[in-house]
Amino acid sequence: MRSQQDSAGGLRHLITLDGLTRDALTAILDRAESYRRLPGQPAYEGRELAGVTLANLFFEPSTRTRASFDLASRRLGAHVLNLDLHSSSRAKGESMLDTIYTLEAMNTDVFVIRDSEAGMPEFLIDHVAPHVSVISAGEAHVSHPTQGLLDVLTIRTHKRRFAGLKVAIVGDIKHSRVARSAHQALSTLGTTDIRVVAPQALLPAEGEFRAAQRFTRIEDGIAGADVVMMLRIQKERMAQSAFLDDAAYFRDFGLDAQRLKLAAASVLVMHPGPMNRGVEISSQVADGPRSVIREQVNNGVAVRMAVLASIAATLTRHRRPL
Ligand code: ASP
Repeated sequence: MRSQQDSAGGLRHLITLDGLTRDALTAILDRAESYRRLPGQPAYEGRELAGVTLANLFFEPSTRTRASFDLASRRLGAHVLNLDLHSSSRAKGESMLDTIYTLEAMNTDVFVIRDSEAGMPEFLIDHVAPHVSVISAGEAHVSHPTQGLLDVLTIRTHKRRFAGLKVAIVGDIKHSRVARSAHQALSTLGTTDIRVVAPQALLPAEGEFRAAQRFTRIEDGIAGADVVMMLRIQKERMAQSAFLDDAAYFRDFGLDAQRLKLAAASVLVMHPGPMNRGVEISSQVADGPRSVIREQVNNGVAVRMAVLASIAATLTRHRRPL
């Protein structure tokens, strides 16, 4: 795989948080903080992406990530193309690479891609032109780098540190790209007490999540936790026969107000969305005083602006002269 960074260390692509240093992650978070505006404040408007054309190619459903990339890029002055891929050429059998080459010929500089096939972003960064960038907006169960960044930004805003925190990631770990990216970011930033908490069947393979402890009872996993990150049950990535009974799952693994008392009093409750209320989390907790779920959404736009601005700055060095 080509590197995500160019020879000068500038961010060229973003498809995984694996391999990015603590300084590289911190620089993105710092930049994101400068872009963040609270709901009700005027959104940041800038020209960092002036002259850049960005295509959002989502081959899996998405509401918040796609809207977030769309807003982030427009607020920095990019031209944005949102393709309806259910009726696109790929559905007619055109390869992903031909779609990319067609859009490259229309001067598209940045591709934001969500796909259910593991390895697709990596394949693309090996094939795009030298002046073109690829950003993953979710790769199968493997990686969701901007989600990982927005999660650690949300934690940093409240806790101001990563060392010494107890972070429990709870639910369908096995199929979760969110959990994988969060685990990578947290371990790089210095969190040593990371717990993955799931029924046995939804724990990841041995050898994955090396920095984390494993728990099969939610009560044990969230005890004393400073952060509880709940995950959606990814039924679309399970065989039909593995479908769980929602009520039984909530009984054994759902986060309700009673269970939340086991965590630290100052716990942050997180969820990447979309939430299945009453399956992995109760509405009382999701909408309650410890929830930072909507702050995650707000931070998502800021983080994507920061990633796009960093990439645009690098791209200027790789553009063809007029
Ligand atoms: N929106 C997140 C993702 O795309 C989480 C989820 O779908 O459960 O992975």
